[in-house]
Parts: sequence; structure tokens; C-alpha cells
Amino acid sequence: MSSISNAIPLFDPRTGEKDGEIVPATSAEVAQAARELREGQASWAALGLDGRIAVMRRWADAIEANAAKITAAEIRDTGRRRVAREVPFIVAGSIRGWCNQAPEIVARTLYEGTSTVMPSISYRTQLVPYPLVGVISPWNHPFLLSMLDGVPALLAGCALLVKPSEVAPRFAGPVSETIATVPELAAVLRYIVGDGATGQAMIEEVDALCFTGSVPTGRKVAEACARRFIPSFLELGGKDAVIVTGTADIQQAAAAVLKGAVHNSGQMCFATERAYVAREIYEPFVEELKSQASRVALSYPDIEHGHIGPYILARQADIVDAQLEEAVQAGATVEVGGPSQTLGGGRYMPATVVTGVDHSMRLMREETFGPVLPVMPYDSEAEAIALANDSDFGLSGAVIAGSAEEAERIAERMNAGAISIQDTSLTIFIMRDVEKTSFGISGMGGSRMGPNSLLRFFRKKALIRQSGRVIDMDSLAEHNAASHH
Ligand code: NAD
Repeated sequence: MSSISNAIPLFDPRTGEKDGEIVPATSAEVAQAARELREGQASWAALGLDGRIAVMRRWADAIEANAAKITAAEIRDTGRRRVAREVPFIVAGSIRGWCNQAPEIVARTLYEGTSTVMPSISYRTQLVPYPLVGVISPWNHPFLLSMLDGVPALLAGCALLVKPSEVAPRFAGPVSETIATVPELAAVLRYIVGDGATGQAMIEEVDALCFTGSVPTGRKVAEACARRFIPSFLELGGKDAVIVTGTADIQQAAAAVLKGAVHNSGQMCFATERAYVAREIYEPFVEELKSQASRVALSYPDIEHGHIGPYILARQADIVDAQLEEAVQAGATVEVGGPSQTLGGGRYMPATVVTGVDHSMRLMREETFGPVLPVMPYDSEAEAIALANDSDFGLSGAVIAGSAEEAERIAERMNAGAISIQDTSLTIFIMRDVEKTSFGISGMGGSRMGPNSLLRFFRKKALIRQSGRVIDMDSLAEHNAASHH
């Protein structure tokens, strides 16, 4: 394979072998794409919401029609099959869901009325989309996260420039084929490839920016957006805590906590990364967790079997191993699992349960992003909540108790944007339904879920009408000042 000097190599997560490369879009190419998309946006906005809905529905059909190719590319991006198979249908379903919900959300946001100060003045609101929105997305859910913000932005009437992660960009090829089959959409939606430099070039061109990724990169993105006075919507990392109370069903709680921690090899922003367990059930809970964790299999050598696929980014294995090793040096015990193993060239990590941890360890403070669950006992509800809240992050969390009421009472006191009750990782099931904002360093810029996910792409404009006589200079003269005394 010939290499262009600035080409970025792609590696198959299952073999570690280089299996392709991308040539990052230059600043000039980004600027050109932005110009073309801006030109297309005027007619896209003029189509109106109903017109855009009709186009988006055709795109959903095209995605499903090309599902096999998208899946094949995403398997090479991620090394996992089940999610890759589902993702075209999840994205198509999300497009149709937004198409169903958008008219009502927009309708109830438009309002009119009369000035409470001067009855001759009335107003109505108009929603004006940002002309060009940029999306910069991470590698852990390539197609899904490239479109989570994108679908509502397109429906709002924005044009969209998307840059997926340079670690997992293969899916963008077959997705672009589906876009090309819908000409009205092709004029306003484009994927480009590249790394951080391409991302920075995008920020210089767009009118609003949606970023999903890590906290350090999110900070750079937010700063660059602030310099241009464009809004940035940031969805960053997490360190989700789960609290398991003494009244919980041990088997069910362990199953939920384990799933939350190791699903998708822990490569989820809302993975369960810390568990706090009431001391009276701590020992049997850890035993149950160990026994369930030891039944979780690596998806190796056969991609069609097992639960845990390879790390998508090989370097992530070193980050997780280092956190684990440091915790062990400081006195923690790996009860089952870890560290990572190299199998067939891929980096894999078994479901890992760690005890003897405390908050001095990076394993309890920093995002891990691997299938690792540190577990800590607590003595009182207040202590459990204090431990859960002792974090810079605040993406989401979970509580499992003997009753939903008990769990909910605790959940109300946790500092995070979404708390799953009696299970973990429930966020994915309510994406269009309910709003959540990230607490702490987990994000910024208003909810990407629920109605606000759509509404954030509009600038709100007021049209203010005078139905009486104009307010002239005489009425504003000093000598005509009304006395307020
Ligand atoms: P990352 O921050 O390394 O990269 C994300 C994107 O930013 C990539 O497309 C990358 O090319 C781009 N980028 C890098 N430097 C840039 C710069 N200077 N300017 C502009 N763009 C730049 O993140 P990642 O490693 O790909 O993804 C994993 C992270 O994403 C984890 O922290 C995870 O928690 C987070 N994440 C968050 C959510 C959420 O909804 N909150 C969802 C999934 C993943």
C-alpha cells in the first residue's frame, strides 16, 4: 500500500495490522466544503420542516438498504459485530423518531403574544437555524456518535460537516454512498476525514460545533470555539458511579453493574466505572460479581462468539493497564480478570473486578474506558452519596436498591446528568425523550437529549410589531417626562 506523507494509518483492532489509511482534509479543503454546504443550506432551510422530514425519511431508507456495507466497515473500525450490525438500524430509527417528534417540538416552541409593558406592541418568535454546524466525533461508536447531534441539526435546517475520529473512519465511506442517493441531502451533509488538525480547521469554518470525545480535547475545542464566539456543545468523558444498597437483590444488582462496566469492552462514555456497595452485602456481592465476571468471555478468536471485543484503539489498553497496575501497587486486589492480553495481534481485556481501592487511585478518579470495575464498601447512605459525588465528572450514574423508591431517593442526591434506577446505562433508551445536561467536566452547552437536542440548533428571533402610533421623539423628550413620583 503506497503511503502519502501525511496519511494516517488505520489498524484492524482484531489483528493490530495496518489495513488502510486516510489522507486528512486540509484547511483549504475544509473551507471549500464549508462554502459548498453553506450554499446548499439556503434551499434546505427553504424546504421547511415538512420538506426536510420527507428527505430525511428517504435517507433512513437508504441507510437500511446499505446496512450490510456500513456494518462491514464498522466491524473493521471497531472489531465487534453485534453493535456494528445494529447501528445502521439504530441510526435509521433515530432519524424516523426525530421526524415524528420534530413538528410538535417546534410548534410548541413558537409562540406569540402582547407586550406586558405596552399593549399596542405584539410579538411572535421565529426559529433560525445556524447555517453550518460541525460535528467532531470519537471512535467508540463511530456511526452512531457522528449522527447523534447531526440528525436534529439537519432537521432544524442546518447544513452539516462531520469529522469522525481518525481511529475509526471507515464507516464514513458507505454512509457517504447513502447520502449521495438523496441529492437534497447531499447538498447539505458531508463527511470529511482527518485528525485534530482537520478538527481545528473545521472550527474556523462553522457556526456551531458539536463535539463528543475526551475532556482534554474538549477543552481545546471549547477554547477555539470561544475565540470565534460560536457555541460549542460538548459531550465528554465520565466516571459513572453505581450505588448498591444493602436491600438490593445481589444477583440482579451484580448482573446490572457488571453489564454497565464491561459492555462494549467498557468503551462507553457512560460505562459504570466505580461501584459503592453497602458493607452488609459487600462480601457476597463481590463473590457474585466475580462468579458472573468469570463467565464473561472474550470475543476471540471467533468474532461471532463471546462478550468482550478488542480495544478499538490499542493505546487504550496501555492506559487501562497502567491505572490497574498503579492501583495494585497502592494495595488494590484484582479479584478476577486484567491486565490486557494480546491475542492474534488484538488487545483484549477480560472482565475485571478490583477491590481494596480508594479515592487516591487514578482508577477511582480518572476515566478508565476499559472493562474494569473497582468496588468499594460503604457504611452509610450519606457516605455512599459523598463517595459517588467525589468526582470531577458528572455524566451519569446508577442506584440499585431493594425498592425503586429507595433507589430514587438516593439518585436525587447524586451530582450527574442521568441516573439509572434499578439498572445501569439506561440513558440510551430515552435519547429523544428527556433532557439531561452533563455535570462537572463531563460536558457543556445544554442537553443533547430530549427536545433541547433539536432546539439548540436554532437561534431564537423575536418579531416585534407596533400596532399603535409610532413612538416619536416628542414622546421621549425630557420636558414630556412622566413623573413616577
Ligand atoms: P478524543 O478527544 O481523542 O477525540 C475525539 C475527536 O476529536 C476525534 O475526532 C479527534 O480527531 C478530534 N480531535 C482531536 N484533537 C482535536 C483538536 N485539537 N481540535 C479538534 N478536534 C480534535 O476522544 P476519543 O478518544 O476519540 O473518544 C473517547 C472519549 O470520548 C472518551 O473520553 C469518552 O468518554 C468520550 N465519549 C463521550 C460521550 C458522551 O456522550 N459524553 C460519548 C462517547 C465517547
